[in-house]
Amino acid sequence: MLSSHKLPKYLKVAIKVALSNDSYPRKRHGAVLVRGGSIQTVGWNSLKSERSRHAEIHALQAADTQQLTGATLYVARVGMDNSPRLSAPCDACRAAIRAAQIKQVVYTLNGSDYGVWKVLDSLYSH
Ligand SMILES: [Zn+2]
Repeated sequence: MLSSHKLPKYLKVAIKVALSNDSYPRKRHGAVLVRGGSIQTVGWNSLKSERSRHAEIHALQAADTQQLTGATLYVARVGMDNSPRLSAPCDACRAAIRAAQIKQVVYTLNGSDYGVWKVLDSLYSH
């Protein structure tokens, strides 16, 4: 299950956050905000509260502006079998990520691969 050696180390941290998330077994997300080579904030989705909150939003809200600018956000989802699942940010999270000036988002795919969204590249053309 977690024998995916090629995953970036902070994506593995996000997977661990997702695994420890007991909000809802079928939809466990974890997010880790990394800047300057260190973890700034950690987030997870919550479906227990009156309003559901996505892991990405949780991690962004826990950070201040200087932690956000140019940071990388690692997002993971794990399935019922505890293995990684597709965790590309939804439209609402993408908008929040753009507004926060995150540099890139690294997210789990089904299995041991991952995707990268270069946020700034999609904002500015060269
Ligand atoms: Zn979302």
